[in-house]
Amino acid sequence: MKERIVILGAGESGTGAAILALKKGCEVFVSDAGKIREKYRKTLEEYGVEWEEGAHTIERVLAATLVIKSPGIPEKAPVMQAVRAQGIPVVSEIEFAARHTRALKICITGSNGKTTTTLLIHHMLKKAGINAGLAGNVGSSFARQVAEEEHAVYVIELSSFQLDDMYDFRAEVAVLMNITPDHLDRYNYRMQNYVDAKFRITRNQTPDDWFIYFADDEVISRELARRQLAATCIPFSLGPRHGDGAGILNDHIDIHIHKNRFSMSILDLALQGKHNACNSMAAAISGMVVGIRNERIRESLTDFQGVEHRLERFLKVHGIEFINDSKATNVNSTWYALESMTHPVVWIAGGVDKGNDYTMLCDLVREKVKAIVCLGVDNAKIHKAFDGMVKNIVDASSMAEAVKSAYYLARNGDTVLLSPACASFDLFENYEDRGHQFKQEVRNL
Ligand code: ADP
Repeated sequence: MKERIVILGAGESGTGAAILALKKGCEVFVSDAGKIREKYRKTLEEYGVEWEEGAHTIERVLAATLVIKSPGIPEKAPVMQAVRAQGIPVVSEIEFAARHTRALKICITGSNGKTTTTLLIHHMLKKAGINAGLAGNVGSSFARQVAEEEHAVYVIELSSFQLDDMYDFRAEVAVLMNITPDHLDRYNYRMQNYVDAKFRITRNQTPDDWFIYFADDEVISRELARRQLAATCIPFSLGPRHGDGAGILNDHIDIHIHKNRFSMSILDLALQGKHNACNSMAAAISGMVVGIRNERIRESLTDFQGVEHRLERFLKVHGIEFINDSKATNVNSTWYALESMTHPVVWIAGGVDKGNDYTMLCDLVREKVKAIVCLGVDNAKIHKAFDGMVKNIVDASSMAEAVKSAYYLARNGDTVLLSPACASFDLFENYEDRGHQFKQEVRNL
């Protein structure tokens, strides 16, 4: 019998899954409770895929033999509850695509640093002349690439939501950057559920595979102590290396993996800051275990172009540097941003608070921040955390106002840092919109 596939959600991953399913001869129906973006509607039409939008026709959904769920749809959604009640198998687009390719998969997960590390590894593979695809949350979907432009290796960024619906997927190389509280609303406010989701990246790994992880992360270390992993585990740390793995000694990255050694000065890294040293080490290890030569690795870590909205050094205006870190949507990423600042900071923060605990930022704020501009609809929590700690703390209700206030509060030699520690949906469409508006307002100064 023909497999009847229903795809819930028609974004990048849903549309890609539809194309692949069609190519594999399945019956395909795409259902989206919201409005499907023009671009994806056109693609579905072009391929002759049946679709609906605005609501799910439950009977049609329940006629599926397999459901492919987009990562944005929560388990709590009524359609998912109906699907679960029927016992229909549910997979993610990544799981589905992986069933149809033999390519090697380098997969990156973590609370922060996924995109940067994914792009860094991809850059490295390309430089080494490897036919590598980039998938997951970045670029075109994994499924669509498997359907249309098969690669030898895929570098895949995986969020915990994508990992939730993976079963037989096997990452030949798995990278776990860190685990800090995020998205707990999707995990019944239980940290362990979130930790378990992240560790799903190690599921189905064999002794031929690699697990690369941040050894300084306490949550990861604690979890590793209770698990028996099949893969070869390679840690990276900001401290000195012990045994096989990566560490930092005398401002040099120092890596040993079996007989293979790698060393380079952190001053030569394209991406500066401790968090980026982590990202660079994770990328270097990944490159080494898939056999890329040290010179290529060194070169890639030196000439990587950085990623927009991630500690992006944007412009200097009258000696004041403006840095766009709009992607910092949680406290941990902002911690690294502040940590890497070397000049007095006027900090633009705020937005939609996902249950933030700002205490971990207090020491850095006392040490480095001279003024705070709160940019959000509700700034009460930021005031509560930092009032009295810095001399100036002002409110802004638009990016124009925030940038002007920050400019006014800063002096020659200072840095204005947009690193909100919050999601952006109160005043902006998304973090990209927030970052673009920031840059536009800086240009207008
Ligand atoms: P993700 O894809 O996991 O959201 P990004 O690479 O997009 O990660 O970076 C998100 C934010 O986190 C940015 O503000 C960035 O400066 C910061 N960041 C990047 N790498 C790390 C890391 N290893 N640890 C903590 N924060 C990081």
